[in-house]
Amino acid sequence: MRVHIPDPESVDRVDRAAGETGDADALSRTDRRLLATAFELDATLVTDDYAMQNVAESLDVGVDVIAQDGIDERRDWNFQCQGCGRTFDDNDDRCRICGSDLERKRP
Ligand SMILES: [Zn+2]
Repeated sequence: MRVHIPDPESVDRVDRAAGETGDADALSRTDRRLLATAFELDATLVTDDYAMQNVAESLDVGVDVIAQDGIDERRDWNFQCQGCGRTFDDNDDRCRICGSDLERKRP
């Protein structure tokens, strides 16, 4: 995978936008660079991160939300944590609460 290194100017632009939307603290260095890259390449950013969506919007960068993509098909399955018993819609490898394995099951 090739990594695009965004222009410092684009990163500045992202920093300013994040400052304006109040999301500056929520964005990691990687988040900022991803945003700057999407901004530079006129690409669509794919993220569920609310802060990134916010900043992308203020930069006029298109956003695709992972969780809403193909949601009809995904409704067939839940993922239940073997540790704490919580169920999730997303197919994560591990429970985001306690870190135990998730098992796929029908709701
Ligand atoms: Zn758990």
